[in-house]
Amino acid sequence: MLVVMQAHATEEQVRAICQKIESLGFRAHTIPGAERTAIGITGNKGEVESGTLEEMPGVQEVIRVTKPYKLVSRDIKAENTVITFPGTNATFGGKGLAIVAGPCSIESREQAFAAAEHVAQAGAQFFRGGAYKPRTSPYSFQGMGEEGLQIMADIREKFGLKIITEAIDHESLALVEQYADVIQIGARNMQNFSLLKRAGRSKLPVLLKRGIAATLEEFLMAAEYVMSEGNYRVVLCERGVRTFADHTRNTLDLSIVPAVQRLSHLPIIVDPSHGTGKRNKVTPLSRAAIAVGCDGLIVEVHHQPDQALSDGMQSLFPEQFADLMTQVRQIAAVLGRTVPTIGPHSTVADYRTSTQPVTV
Ligand code: PEP
Ligand code: MN
Repeated sequence: MLVVMQAHATEEQVRAICQKIESLGFRAHTIPGAERTAIGITGNKGEVESGTLEEMPGVQEVIRVTKPYKLVSRDIKAENTVITFPGTNATFGGKGLAIVAGPCSIESREQAFAAAEHVAQAGAQFFRGGAYKPRTSPYSFQGMGEEGLQIMADIREKFGLKIITEAIDHESLALVEQYADVIQIGARNMQNFSLLKRAGRSKLPVLLKRGIAATLEEFLMAAEYVMSEGNYRVVLCERGVRTFADHTRNTLDLSIVPAVQRLSHLPIIVDPSHGTGKRNKVTPLSRAAIAVGCDGLIVEVHHQPDQALSDGMQSLFPEQFADLMTQVRQIAAVLGRTVPTIGPHSTVADYRTSTQPVTV
């Protein structure tokens, strides 16, 4: 159920509706929109008796939501969600594109800083790097853990880049929350419902990757899990799905971008690195992703891909990433979008105008 408030409804009227919903044993989610506020009702097993709510002051109408997802839906919020990062120009879902770049894994302080220096210089606003790696083999490098998180926090300090890193369980999520700016939930955990709910209780935005074989509805339902716990700052990420094709690691499904945008107000970015698994396909698919209208990219970049401890084959060399950024800016302009710099309040501005060499 969805309670749509009148355009001029007061805050007290909105509060009264929420109290009424809670007193009935349900949960109220207030989602302010440009024109009116909507209040989503979750936690109801069957239909909520709408008569009482309909009669309350400030209410325009009470709508039954027939789709399985409610809070992610455009029914509750017609305009796009824009996730901002105070003190920076970076957004997910605004006119500006979000560019997230960095190595697959944090392997050492030197490696991470080398990648960060390059991606900051090329104009990314976000730095990615895994400290907890969900690897297919238990014998593969599993990540540096908290030490890796600390290195990324130091990178934020030095370059001003915002940090995105994956949490693989409750324990790592509690740590990621302390160090990062955005929590990544990986493809393998897209239906780890307990982890999704935990992320839903976090104050940080969540980057939710599409599951390896997830349908559009399963993908949106995973986002619904996060939102149902009260965290409305979710970014979706298409990263390719498993198909019969073997010329790429996964099949990047760019058609899901307009499909999501039709149904949901949430931002969606594209990961051409995991989506293809091949370095030579990352730039062409990045161009296509921007052209199809996504809200940004997450790209793996390594200063020595041949020596990477994970995903070296799909990691761009720094110069390739810089080239990619030039192309992204050109395509963005055609679409009336921009690639904002991280912003004047960030230390990256000082770094970029400084002639001092970067020390680790
Ligand atoms: C990653 O971003 O390094 C990663 C493991 O991604 P995914 O969950 O999409 O495989
Ligand atoms: Mn990777």
